[in-house]
Amino acid sequence: MSQAQQSPSATARTARAAIVRQQGGPFSVESVEIATPRADEVLVRMVGTGVCHTDLVCRDAFPVPMPIVLGHEGAGIVEAVGSKVSTLRPGDHVVLSFNSCGGCHNCAHEAPAYCFNFMPLNFGGALEDGSSPLSQAGLNIHANFFGQSSFATYAVVRESNAVAIATDLPLEIMGPLGCGIQTGAGAALNSLKVTKGTSFAIFGGGAVGLSALMAAKAVGAAPVIVVEPNAARRQLAVELGADATIDPRAVEDVSAAIKAVGNGGVLAALDTTGIPAVITTAADALLPNGQLGLVGVSPMEANLPVNIMSMITRGIGIKAILEGDSQPREFIPQLVELYRQGKFPFDRLIKTFPFEQINEAAHASEDGSVIKPVVVF
Ligand SMILES: [Zn+2]
Ligand SMILES: [Zn+2]
Repeated sequence: MSQAQQSPSATARTARAAIVRQQGGPFSVESVEIATPRADEVLVRMVGTGVCHTDLVCRDAFPVPMPIVLGHEGAGIVEAVGSKVSTLRPGDHVVLSFNSCGGCHNCAHEAPAYCFNFMPLNFGGALEDGSSPLSQAGLNIHANFFGQSSFATYAVVRESNAVAIATDLPLEIMGPLGCGIQTGAGAALNSLKVTKGTSFAIFGGGAVGLSALMAAKAVGAAPVIVVEPNAARRQLAVELGADATIDPRAVEDVSAAIKAVGNGGVLAALDTTGIPAVITTAADALLPNGQLGLVGVSPMEANLPVNIMSMITRGIGIKAILEGDSQPREFIPQLVELYRQGKFPFDRLIKTFPFEQINEAAHASEDGSVIKPVVVF
C-alpha cells in the first residue's frame, strides 16, 4: 500500500471522507484530518458532489494510488482562503472542476482539458510535491483527485480549480456542471460546434449524451436524434427536446434510420458509449464534412473501427474529447445562464442521496436507474 508523503501543512480539522482502500473495493465513510489551505488554495465545505463514471472506473480498474478519496463534481462553500488567493473569499459558492497546470502551451491557449500535465494533476492522488491534504491517524490518504477529492465533507482545492457561482442557485446539485454535464454540453457546443440548424446524432442517453442534447437544443440544432436502447431514457430525451429517438435493438440498420430522419445523414455525431461498433455506425451516418466526437470509455485494446477512404471521400473529422473542450471559468457560467433561462434543465438528470449512502448512489449509476446521482452532505 503506497502512501503519499507527509503534508507540510498543519492539520486544521477533521472531515468525513469516502475512502477507497483497494481497487474494486467499496467507498468507506471514515474520519480524516484535512490540512489548512496553502497560499494559493481554498478550503471548501462540500454541499453536494456528483457521481461520475470516471469515479467508478478509478474505484474499480483505472490505476490510481490507494487508499484514495475520489469525487470530482463537487460544489460547496468557501470557508477559508490562502494568503495569495485574490478572487475568492469565505462564503463564496463554488463549483469545482478539473485541474490544470496553467503554465503549459494548451493551458495558455484556452485548452486546459488538454493540459500537458493533466494525468498527474487529476489522477496522481497527490499534490505536485507528492504531499496530500488528507491524513488519518498520521498516515496520509491519497487525495487531490481532479484537484478536489470531493467525496468528503471538506476539500482543499486550488483557487484556479474553483468557479464561483451566484448564491441563489441550488448549490447541492451544481457540482456535475464541473465534469459530466460540462463534458456533454461542451462536446456539442465547443468541440463539434453544433449551432442553429446543425443536424446531430447522439449515441447514448446517459448524463453526457443528454447534456449534449440539452445544449444542442438550447442553441437551436435540428434535428437532434438520440440513439438509446433504454425506453425510459428515450422518453426523457423526447421530453428534453429530442426530435427523434431510435432504439438500436428495434431497427435493422441504425445508420439508415438516422439518414431517414436527418435528410441523408447528420453533420455532427457524438459517441458516448465507447463501443467500437457504435462508433462505426456514427461515422457512417455523417454527411460530407461531418464531425464525429468521441467521449465514451472504450476497451483499452480497441482501435478506431472506421474505414479511412470512406472518411477521406466525405472529409469526415474525428475529435477525441476531454471535458467538453471546456474552459470551466467561462463555460460553467454559460451553462448556468442557460439553466436560469430554462433552456438547460440539467436538474432533471439528478437524484440526490445522503453522503452516507454513496455506495447506493454508485450502484444506482451502474444499474442505470439514476442518470446522475449526487451525494449531499
Ligand atoms: Zn497545463
Ligand atoms: Zn467526470
